[in-house]
Amino acid sequence: MSAQKTIKAPRPLIAGNWKMNGTPADLKQIRALIAKLSGKSRYACDTMICPPATLLAPMAELRAKMKASRQLALGGQDCHANASGAHTGDISADMLKQAKASAVILGHSERRSDHGETDKIVKAKVEAALKAGLSAIICVGESLKERKSGDTLKVVGKQLRGSLPDGCTSANTVIAYEPVWAIGSGLTPTTEQVAQVHLALRKALVRRFGDEGSNMRILYGGSVKPSNAQELMAVPHVNGALVGGASLKANDFLGILAAYKQ
Ligand code: PEP
Repeated sequence: MSAQKTIKAPRPLIAGNWKMNGTPADLKQIRALIAKLSGKSRYACDTMICPPATLLAPMAELRAKMKASRQLALGGQDCHANASGAHTGDISADMLKQAKASAVILGHSERRSDHGETDKIVKAKVEAALKAGLSAIICVGESLKERKSGDTLKVVGKQLRGSLPDGCTSANTVIAYEPVWAIGSGLTPTTEQVAQVHLALRKALVRRFGDEGSNMRILYGGSVKPSNAQELMAVPHVNGALVGGASLKANDFLGILAAYKQ
């Protein structure tokens, strides 16, 4: 008998990133989503919504009222590397935690481009998130220019090395591969291209974190929709999705969750 260990695929996660969208009027989307998640439909994945910080507490309240804290996790979209202080407009990891977030997206390409976030800054934020007891969803991805010049694996490998601190485990860290050119564009890489990047990320995670790296979830993100979710989620080492635009409406998001319907 072979002594090789069989590693079970990690439980997938479908996380919605609402970005700078949503007011209390949109809580009805969460009500509709929770109603389905708590109903007869069963999905073999974890589900999370990362709203703007202003909606974390109202969403948490609604979730509690609907007795659905197991069905729907909540996450922030960014946090500061410091625990508190003179950082106007920023939010700390502990503030997110106290508003009932269990995770935070870090290093999203929009933060990297709009706010000049480097791998070093992302790593410091990840450390702050883990210290506060949040999981980190760490985004990596190449630009179109980098894809065209054949540098994709080099770019995402460097981001992964530079953005992850040493304390990452499969319980506190999720990687999201998001090609920048696929975000909000309606374009997606081929399944072969997704498979190539996810395999490279998996190998890099295993090299650095051993068994923890085998079990870390690697999400795909970039124009995931109900019409392409099943195909993308079937790619080896794709353990779920980070969804932008299609997470804003409960029906679209549920159409993506259908890829994991039991
Ligand atoms: C995102 O910004 O994380 C994202 C994946 O966006 P979209 O699904 O809209 O492409």
